[in-house]
Amino acid sequence: KIRVRYAPSPTGYLHLGGLRTALFNYLFAKKNNGTFLLRIEDTDRTRFVEGSAKNLANCLEWAGIPYDEGPERPGNCGPYVQSERLPIYKEHAQRLLDEGHAYHCFCTPERLAISRIGSKGQNGMSLYDRHCLKLSKEEIENRLKNNEPHTIRLKIPSEKTTNFTDIVKGKVSFNNQLIDDQVLMKSDGFPTYHLASVVDDHLMGITHVIRGEEWLNSTPKHIVLYEAFGWQPPKMAHVPLLLNTDKSKLSKRQGDVSVDSYMEKGFLPEALVNFVALLGWSPHETTQEVFTLNELIDQFSLDGLNTSGSVVNMEKLDWFNVVHIRKQLDDPSTHHLILPTIKEQIKEFYNQSSSESDEYLLKAIHCVKERVHIIENFVPLLKPFFVDQIDFNSEEAQKMKSKVWKGEQSKQNITTFIEQLKNLQDFTAPNIYKTLQQTCSNHIYKDQQLSEKELTAKVNQLMSNLRYLLLGSSVGGGIPVAIETFGKEKTINRLLNGLN
Ligand code: GLU
Repeated sequence: KIRVRYAPSPTGYLHLGGLRTALFNYLFAKKNNGTFLLRIEDTDRTRFVEGSAKNLANCLEWAGIPYDEGPERPGNCGPYVQSERLPIYKEHAQRLLDEGHAYHCFCTPERLAISRIGSKGQNGMSLYDRHCLKLSKEEIENRLKNNEPHTIRLKIPSEKTTNFTDIVKGKVSFNNQLIDDQVLMKSDGFPTYHLASVVDDHLMGITHVIRGEEWLNSTPKHIVLYEAFGWQPPKMAHVPLLLNTDKSKLSKRQGDVSVDSYMEKGFLPEALVNFVALLGWSPHETTQEVFTLNELIDQFSLDGLNTSGSVVNMEKLDWFNVVHIRKQLDDPSTHHLILPTIKEQIKEFYNQSSSESDEYLLKAIHCVKERVHIIENFVPLLKPFFVDQIDFNSEEAQKMKSKVWKGEQSKQNITTFIEQLKNLQDFTAPNIYKTLQQTCSNHIYKDQQLSEKELTAKVNQLMSNLRYLLLGSSVGGGIPVAIETFGKEKTINRLLNGLN
């Protein structure tokens, strides 16, 4: 049975790269009836940020990809927070010591700084010179008895090479001579990431490790550890980096990358998830771009992971958001996903909940949706539909008035239109438009022979006046649709109010 994990370090907010790693793990688990674990890797106390573990879990919930097993939903392999598992790591480090795969190191930071000059390993990183590997058993015991600060290091079998097959990268081979004798237990008694993650992946029954490419260079150390313990390593998939448009590694400096910030800006989780899924993964044999979460699960497979880095184009996220907003509004079965958020925003904005029905809200939304890119946009645009009275003193209303309002003439035209509207039975936008035309040709301009073009111009003029009185703003969609949304009574009241 497939078991995967997302194993963040609680060092700050969940960013796009982290969300992507979590998402790929989630999709893979769901596709294969597996289990998705959340493990908090908080053994680096210097980078620990209070509250960030909670934030990470909240973001996953918001994104719609909750974990099956983890801190708040324990299974059989807990605890799921590494700082609560210290005895487990200690015991495993001892086992490595006893079996000759690890050794105590008493070197001070000063000595390390000097000894490291010269010997270069992986990525030009300097290697530990194995000074403490030569210590006698007695000396080690004495120094331990004296409570001398020390670490425990992995003894890399330097004569070998370490090979493994990565699902994304293919065959990978490392010369062990270039691998540092990694510290496994630090002098503060905490394990390093390497020991903790290998021990936990094994004890938690992880079958596939799907993580960012930045961990690829650590993997040979992990493989050496699996071999030392005599364990079968999980399958590995290292996902290429996310890049800025200039191809540099995605960084916070270039635009906002925290999931929180998208949540706050009013992006739909469905849009963000869709956007992130396609950063580094592509479905087979389809050019489809818009996916719901269930469609992503259905399509997902590890062989769709790309082998090179993915450029993050934020404009594409805006596009996904617009598409998903429309999609959810057009489909009654997804109204529950989008309406509560809009209602909440309206409530926040007007400091009171609206007594209008969902039907009214949907119609109002329909009037403005062409102008909406993020959910937050709805609130100011919907304003004319949710206030009792239009603020004719607003800058926008004043501007409109000076442009379209022709005093007594406009007033008379509106009065005539109101009379016609009163008689209208089937109060729908197309009928309202017809009424507008009839009002112009049969009543207001009845003595002039208007061509079709002239009539349209007159109708447009009348609609501008109606827009001014009903909405007080240039937004709000087509006037017939807005009038239909208000309904007969509200429209007439509002117009009469405006005329006074
Ligand atoms: N704690 C590591 C991180 O912060 C996890 C790496 C891994 O998935 O093994 O990304």
